[in-house]
Amino acid sequence: MDSDTLQVFQSELTCSICMNCFLDPVTIDCGHSFCRPCLSLCWEEAQIPRRCPECRGISERPDFKTNIALKRLASLARQARADHDHSSEEQICVTHQEAKGLFCEVDQTLLCGPCSECPEHAAHSHSPIHRAAEESREKLLKRMSSLWKMREEIQICLNQEANTTQSFEDYVALRKVMIKLEYQRMLLLLREEEQLHLEALEQEAKEICEELKESVFRMSQYRESLKEMYKELTEMCHKPDMELLQVRKEVDPKTHLAQIQKPQPVNPELPSWPISGFLHMLNNFR
Ligand SMILES: [Zn+2]
Ligand SMILES: [Zn+2]
Ligand SMILES: [Zn+2]
Ligand SMILES: [Zn+2]
Repeated sequence: MDSDTLQVFQSELTCSICMNCFLDPVTIDCGHSFCRPCLSLCWEEAQIPRRCPECRGISERPDFKTNIALKRLASLARQARADHDHSSEEQICVTHQEAKGLFCEVDQTLLCGPCSECPEHAAHSHSPIHRAAEESREKLLKRMSSLWKMREEIQICLNQEANTTQSFEDYVALRKVMIKLEYQRMLLLLREEEQLHLEALEQEAKEICEELKESVFRMSQYRESLKEMYKELTEMCHKPDMELLQVRKEVDPKTHLAQIQKPQPVNPELPSWPISGFLHMLNNFR
């Protein structure tokens, strides 16, 4: 292959993202092809629908099969480039003065033909450098693929975490509302309790005042009747002797007093209201 043909051949097998020869090429819906790793990275943060990096055409599918024909051609293009650059890149064996064109998988070294036949390497399998390199690329691609899968799994976990965070925030907001409502209800109950408390006290105070008023009235009446009796007795003292002695029997102060009962003073027991309602109410909330 002459230099110009090689250049055309290679440019047709160049990924427009990395500007290198295709690696695991995939052909998307519009017909353009890219290395799978280049497309994966390019589309990683891209919005849906995904677009072709070259023509902006929409690509419906997220996953593509390797374009096997393109992959083989890309491998050939790499081989052709390697052959073309042979002289500059080639390593010469110091012992045999021959080009090192083989790769020993076991020792991971480059060998020339005679080296590969020496006893040290006799039991090893040796392959041409280009084939070994392509095999190595395949292995790397497999590892990359599993890394990418792991990355996607992590993305799913991340989405779940984001959902959990959202749910938790929603829960906290709801709980806040509920706590506020609970306290509002408690305040309402407290006000009702306060009202009942005041009303009960007022009622009781009213009854006691009534009782005290009646007692004062009875006491004043009694005081008045004592005064009346005193007056009667004073009059009796002024009566003539005979009359005094006769009347005295009838108006015996002892029997006279017994007719009027001495009122007992009212000693109301003032209610002591424990502030227990609030505690009781708090307990109901728990
Ligand atoms: Zn690429
Ligand atoms: Zn395109
Ligand atoms: Zn050698
Ligand atoms: Zn070997």
